[in-house]
Order: sequence, then C-alpha cells, then structure tokens
Amino acid sequence: MSRSRRHSHMRVARRRALQKAEVPHLVPCPKCKTLRPPHHLCPNCGTYGGRQVLPLEEGGRRAS
Ligand SMILES: [Zn+2]
Repeated sequence: MSRSRRHSHMRVARRRALQKAEVPHLVPCPKCKTLRPPHHLCPNCGTYGGRQVLPLEEGGRRAS
C-alpha cells in the first residue's frame, strides 16, 4: 500500500500553520488581572469563579 503523496508536506505545513494562528483565549483575572484561560484557576492568585481555591501564601507557612 502506497502512502506517498496523500498530502504534500507544504500542504500539511500550511494547514498546521493556520491552526496555530488561533487566538489564544485569555481573560484577565477579576482579582489580580493576570491573563489566564477562561474557566481556569488563576495561576497567580489561585481564585476561580470568584472563590479562593488555592491557599495564598500566608505568613510563610507551608502546607505539607
Ligand atoms: Zn488572579
């Protein structure tokens, strides 16, 4: 079975380039304004949906 020339390399490369040109969806965090993907936990302040999800660093205490 011949697998040659199903798509030329250029054709595949061009299609992939177009897909990669998608605009990255980023929204500013309502709390700290860090850009993050929507519906994602904020990597900076750890809030999601207006709630504090991750504990902020308080007084240098570490959660084991
Ligand atoms: Zn944030």
